[in-house]
Amino acid sequence: MKKSRLRVPGPTEVPEKVLNKMALPMINHRGEQFRNLFLKVSEEIKYVFQTNNDVLIFPSAGTGVMEAAIANFFSPGDHIVSFQCGVFGERFAEIAESYGAKVEAIKVDYGKPITKEIVKERISNDKNNKIKGILFTQNETSTGVLNNIKELREAIGNHPALVIVDAISSLGAVELKTDEWGIDVVVSSSQKAFMLPPGLGFISVSEKAWNAYENSKMPKYYFDIKNAKNSLKKGETPYTPFVSLIYALEESLKIIKDEGLENIIKEHKRLSKVLREGVKAIGLKLFVEDEYASPTVTAVEIPEERKDLQKFLKNKFNITVAGGQDRLKDKIIRIGHLGYVDFLDIIAVISALEMAVGDERLFGKGVKAAEKIYFEGGL
Ligand SMILES: *Cc1c(COP(=O)(O)O)cnc(C)c1O
Repeated sequence: MKKSRLRVPGPTEVPEKVLNKMALPMINHRGEQFRNLFLKVSEEIKYVFQTNNDVLIFPSAGTGVMEAAIANFFSPGDHIVSFQCGVFGERFAEIAESYGAKVEAIKVDYGKPITKEIVKERISNDKNNKIKGILFTQNETSTGVLNNIKELREAIGNHPALVIVDAISSLGAVELKTDEWGIDVVVSSSQKAFMLPPGLGFISVSEKAWNAYENSKMPKYYFDIKNAKNSLKKGETPYTPFVSLIYALEESLKIIKDEGLENIIKEHKRLSKVLREGVKAIGLKLFVEDEYASPTVTAVEIPEERKDLQKFLKNKFNITVAGGQDRLKDKIIRIGHLGYVDFLDIIAVISALEMAVGDERLFGKGVKAAEKIYFEGGL
């Protein structure tokens, strides 16, 4: 019997303590018990967002709150600049377009990050403040690139556009100082670093973004954030919430708090380095350079001699990794290492990769390199 190892960049593995909460009996979502629970998690989640802004919780996929991040703040015809380095950046722009925004896409090659120079050049040229919104993806899950949001935000300076960040595969694993950096809207979802099953979307809203809401003419109903905020004041949701996931969220927030966000962020960086050095030591190629490598997902190029790498890992070891999306299909595998994951999980992947390469002279080399990095960090 082979143990299942889910190493895709979401859904991620869920701790047993959290899973157990999903089995609790249903309660009235308009009753006292739910009210207390919902008010508690809506407050506590701000710690992960590093914000004092409102954070609203919707029963939805991540894409739902991306849609909310467009529909609530803009009007048809608004000029939105979308900085893209992969599939998820492209999706954000598609949503904005479908709501009638005038979207200007600024793209860099897959595998590369958005640079502060690119942002600065575009934004400083907008003399009449035509740009109403700026879209970033913090962690481009399709390529394994981490954009430096702090730097990119600084490059915008005091331009009045709303700054919106998709942090779906990074929040809770990578530093994102919503208030300190001045990010108006941050979206995330449950099935990545939050160590929960899919089904909850989270969106933080700054005061400036609330002002934009008042002038927004795009249509909205289910994802109307003001509706959600008014209900939240009473400890409720406008429509029936995902009660089981709210129980689970309470538990996962407790785990994050107990571990400490700082420590979690450090450990993700460390494990990413462990994996990368292991991969290099066995001669496999990383798709992204160290400098802007994601702490939560690593793309490894599929070698000529092992075209079936993804299947091999699945069939021989029951390790599930993701394939490449779009034009990276059959070119890379993507290994998720976010949320409920530890050093020995990474060692298992490296060891399996050593055997996938199949050169006995390399056996142990990846694991050795990985142990060296991990040991350096202090046990
Ligand atoms: C996973 C992911 C999404 C989409 O989330 P869904 O829940 O599948 O809608 C969006 N953006 C990024 C960066 C992601 O990693």
